[in-house]
Amino acid sequence: MQRPLVSLKGLTMVYRVRHGFLGSRDIKPVDGVDLDVGEGEAVALVGESGCGKTTVGKLSIRLLRPKSGRIFYDGEDVTDLPAKRLQKLRRETRMIFQDPYSSINPYMAVGETVEEPLIAHGVEDKRERMELVYKALEDVRLTPPQDVAARFPHLLSGGQRQRVAIARAIVLKPRYMVADEPVSMIDASSRAEVLEVLKRLQTRHGIAFLYITHDLATARYFSDRIAVMYLGKVVELGQVEEVLSEPLHPYTQALIASIPEPDPANRFGERPAVKGEPPSPQNIPSGCRFHPRCPKAFERCPLEEPQLREVRRGRYVACHLY
Ligand code: SF4
Repeated sequence: MQRPLVSLKGLTMVYRVRHGFLGSRDIKPVDGVDLDVGEGEAVALVGESGCGKTTVGKLSIRLLRPKSGRIFYDGEDVTDLPAKRLQKLRRETRMIFQDPYSSINPYMAVGETVEEPLIAHGVEDKRERMELVYKALEDVRLTPPQDVAARFPHLLSGGQRQRVAIARAIVLKPRYMVADEPVSMIDASSRAEVLEVLKRLQTRHGIAFLYITHDLATARYFSDRIAVMYLGKVVELGQVEEVLSEPLHPYTQALIASIPEPDPANRFGERPAVKGEPPSPQNIPSGCRFHPRCPKAFERCPLEEPQLREVRRGRYVACHLY
């Protein structure tokens, strides 16, 4: 991995939710997450819905403030910086959201949508702004950019809208982007194009990415490393090819076994798909939080929480089997 651009240390997030008529209860969607994203690196963050992936993404660009733990950006601790001292972070980090239908304003022309962050960040010259807008539209393959800039979102497909959202995100030339399920709500025919645009931004422009997804196939295509999350914790981390070809944690094995594709070679023998529903973050199981669903659980598992440990160079697993 390159020098860490973003470094998350022991991040924990706590929300207070209503419980019953009178009471309330704390839930921890993120519980002690350590994760680095190197300069120009793409790290996939995968796991079931509700495991805390999006919260980690938002924390990593300080859209949220953690209950505990530290967030470092480019070597600086930004965890407690007040809003007025976050300009560098706001300019250099961006987030792409899942739904391209709600993330861009339907009443603004594409050019205005992409131009808006430039105005917000003080680029005063209109001609300079429009040059940057056209360049960003070209970078996401929306051409000819002058024509596309004049259109309104209702004239665009879901894939084109998502590329407008990406153009808006890159117009300030960010160094780090969080892409939160960027292709899950667009047609299959447009997914490859959006992913290819993102990949090119990473490889040619050197933008570091946290790529949040539950789709292991796109994680493999897009990422250098992969972190697997379960119920607020990272349970496995390593090079994407290594983790997906030889998963160590039983949850990662079950996720891979859940892919609805035949595995004629059956390389890993019998691996049952992940059983049952994920437990609620309001009611986290004792010990290893995966133990009620784990086919390999043994006596120690409900009693003691496994820590994320390096089991071989660059490969981390939180499981008592290792
Ligand atoms: Fe399964 Fe035990 Fe490993 Fe948890 S610690 S994943 S329950 S074997």
